[in-house]
Amino acid sequence: PLVYLNGEFLPLDQARVSVLDRGFLFGDGVYEVIPVYGGRPLRLEEHLRRLDDSLRGIRMTSPLVRSEWAEIIGRLIDGGGDQAVYLQVTRGVGPARDHSIPVGVRPTVFAMGSPITPVPAAGARAITLEDIRWRWCNIKAITLLPNVLLRQQAVERGCAEAVLVREGHITEGTASNVFAVIGGVIVTPPKGPELLPGITRDLVLELVRAEGLPAWEQAIPLEEFAGAEEIWITSSTREVLPVVELDGRPVGRGRPGLVWERVSALYQDFKRRFKRGV
Ligand code: PLP
Repeated sequence: PLVYLNGEFLPLDQARVSVLDRGFLFGDGVYEVIPVYGGRPLRLEEHLRRLDDSLRGIRMTSPLVRSEWAEIIGRLIDGGGDQAVYLQVTRGVGPARDHSIPVGVRPTVFAMGSPITPVPAAGARAITLEDIRWRWCNIKAITLLPNVLLRQQAVERGCAEAVLVREGHITEGTASNVFAVIGGVIVTPPKGPELLPGITRDLVLELVRAEGLPAWEQAIPLEEFAGAEEIWITSSTREVLPVVELDGRPVGRGRPGLVWERVSALYQDFKRRFKRGV
């Protein structure tokens, strides 16, 4: 399969960027991951809008128009199986290694298809860690060193995700948004600069509200979170994944909860309808 780089489709091992690319030197760029089901990108408009927002957040504008993105994504989709498309825009190659933003440089645009691995049915374990990231987490920046180091701590403790805590409140996972069921109500932290506005998060809220389930966007203190009946993480590639153990203690009865079962069924049903084009 080919990848896209700056206007060309070429084999992955022939895709090359300069070592002076500001993405390489400074992590000066943004990205998107779009899930593809039945050969169709899910919530494409929302993903491209978020890409625009991320670009604006780092003082760039989209180097391509919507139809050009759609065309590239269409060509990277490989068959009808579940997959994802990765998009990345960096500020491009500066004239020298200088932090300040150069004028007149051409952004580097890269896109590739990638497989989606099936999510574990039995649920996942997670730990809580202090959110050491910067304060503009609503921008989907490629600068992921804190996320890398936090996720690694989770992995080394046999966990799939680290749930991050800032000033005593839950923000999100290192690569996911977080939901909890507390007192029978589905809650997730409100959007803001502390977390990425997840497309899956919005979709889950939409699905549960359409079903008449109580769901609120509200700040979640760590103590309430630790005592939640259920915890889930959501992302484009992990869908709605139940967390069955938090910091070594069982969440609820230590297995995927009843509310999760309903929400997961709604999500899978939504996917099936989407694949059929309904
Ligand atoms: N939060 C972070 C930090 C992420 O990296 C991601 C996606 O990988 C998400 C949340 C979930 O966003 P989405 O549902 O749009 O994939």
